[in-house]
This record gives sequence, C-alpha cells and structure tokens, in this order.
Amino acid sequence: MVYSYPGALHIHTPYSDGSGTVPEIAEAARAAGLRWIIITDHDTLQALPEEGWYDGVAVLVGYEVTPDKNHLLVFGASEVISRDLSPAECIVRARELNALSFIAHPDERTNNAMKRPYEWEDWSIRGFTGIELWNYMSEWMEAIAPWRKYLNFFFPATAIKSPTRRVLSWWDRLHREGGHTVGVVGGDVHQARVRSLGRIWEVFPYEQVFRTLTNYLVLDRPLSEDFSLAKAQILKALGRGRVIMANRTYGQADGASFVARSGDKTVTVGDTLAGGEQFLLSVHVPHRSDIRILRDGEVVCRRNDTNLLLTTHKSGVYRAEAWRWGRAWILTNHIHVE
Ligand SMILES: [Zn+2]
Ligand SMILES: [Zn+2]
Repeated sequence: MVYSYPGALHIHTPYSDGSGTVPEIAEAARAAGLRWIIITDHDTLQALPEEGWYDGVAVLVGYEVTPDKNHLLVFGASEVISRDLSPAECIVRARELNALSFIAHPDERTNNAMKRPYEWEDWSIRGFTGIELWNYMSEWMEAIAPWRKYLNFFFPATAIKSPTRRVLSWWDRLHREGGHTVGVVGGDVHQARVRSLGRIWEVFPYEQVFRTLTNYLVLDRPLSEDFSLAKAQILKALGRGRVIMANRTYGQADGASFVARSGDKTVTVGDTLAGGEQFLLSVHVPHRSDIRILRDGEVVCRRNDTNLLLTTHKSGVYRAEAWRWGRAWILTNHIHVE
C-alpha cells in the first residue's frame, strides 16, 4: 500500500519577490488540491517561523541561493548558504547541513526584454540531490514570441509543453553513471503584480500555477499530523526520488504509478530492485495516453492506453513518461535494476 501526496516547490513570497503571504499561498495550494508546499525565497529563511500545517497543507520553508547564475534550491537547512560561494561549494555546504539541494531551472535560455536567463553553467558538477527538470516560469518566458505574447499572457498554461531533451538526457546520463539524482518540477511562482492597460493585473496567481506542474510524493505511510514528523517524511521522500511529476493542465494524475515486481518483491520510483531474475515493470495512469518506458534514456516500450507492462530481465535504469496531445503529462523518477 502506498500513499500519494501532490505538492509544489519553488515558491516566492514578499520575503523575496513574490506577492502572497504564507497563509494566502497555503490557501491557494489547498484550493488547487495540494497537500504540501515548499516556500523558497531568495537567500533567506525569513518565513521559517511560519512553517506548519495550514488546513491540511503542510508548509515547509527552504530557500533559493541566487548568485547571478547557478541558482540552487535548498530544503531542510537550518541556515542560509552564502550566495558568494561557488556552485560546487554551495552543494558541499548543503550536504554538511544535512539539507537537500536541487539545481533550479538549469536549462533556462530565455533572453528577452523581460528577463535574463539564469541557467546552470557547469553540468560536470556532482553531489547535488536533484534537478528541477521543468520550471514553469522558464518555459513560459522561452515561449514568448511576439505573435503569442498575449496568448501566453492570458492562457499561460498553453506555453508549457515538456522539459527540454537536453535536461532529460543529462538526468538519464547521471543515472547511467550510477547516481540517484532526483527529478522534480517547479513553479517558480511569484504572482507578480503588473500595471498595464490602466489597471493592476496579477500575473501567474499562485492557485493557477499550483494547478499545473505538480510533484506527487509516493509514501509508505500517511503524512503524520505532527508537523515535524510530516516535514521529515516529505524531505526523506524528496531526497530519495519517491516522486512522480505531472503537468495537471493535461489531466489530474492522482493514482499514477510506476512499479517493478520480481517474485513477491515490489519496488517503486526512487527504489532499487536486485536484478538477476525476470521482473515486471508496470505503469498505470488515470487517463488514456501515449505511455513510454525508458531504459538508460531510450524508449523500449510504448503504447496508447492507461496501462503499460514490460517483462524483462535486463538491468538498467528505468523511468516512465505519459504524453497527451503531444505534451508531457506525467514523468516518473527512476527505478534502478541492478
Ligand atoms: Zn531562480
Ligand atoms: Zn525562483
């Protein structure tokens, strides 16, 4: 029996450049069906005293280390890592603090009048917990072409298609090397207030972004009512890759699963299966879609359905994707088969 908890991370409040208070953001998360969120203001833990349960939503506070480039999301740290350290030093420091570190928007290439790109420069660095494979703001900005500027503005979800091939193949390569790099999706949500056409517009309201890129945590037990225990459960699941990512613009993803079975043993995303024998990989998604199983970054099996099964004895790193209308809908973390 596993329990699935949808949540979001990479969220800004007025402690950096967001516009919503912690209780307002928690309410937006609840309205969007989320059960946990992680606030990540720039280089500050100012929101930390506001951590806790808010009407069924666990609110955790981490931060984003923001030098000119190479932003790093840090969760579970008791102190703020200086933005003056090098990216490699930040990652080492996060480990010393027993915190999780996720590379933020690594593939951001936008360079337009509205925003400079904040990409991750050195893809040879190792030792971080995971990667924000897909960032709502980066992709939205990248999609701004003059002809679709207003389409993006009023229907922003239409700009969000999939993580880049480049970042997905980097992620798969890290797994092939034997690492367990965790994949997550991030909103980078600010709810900016913009004055235009004679009134104030709220761009990317929290609730609207919370209904898009979502991380489902796969837990062995329900979240504790004791906040400090629930926080530990959330961080542990994030740290070991117990995460199924979805863009809910293309359908609710509750109940999505990816498991491997060998004999009477069943493992799920983030886990390792001792190989040697034949095993069964099983993907289930709640709507018919273009489901794919990938081994070592290559698609090995594909079907338009709500289920996909693969029986094999080949070791490797496996993950699954489900696409709808040519857009990435569900992306799972990896299962390692030794
Ligand atoms: Zn950033
Ligand atoms: Zn950010």
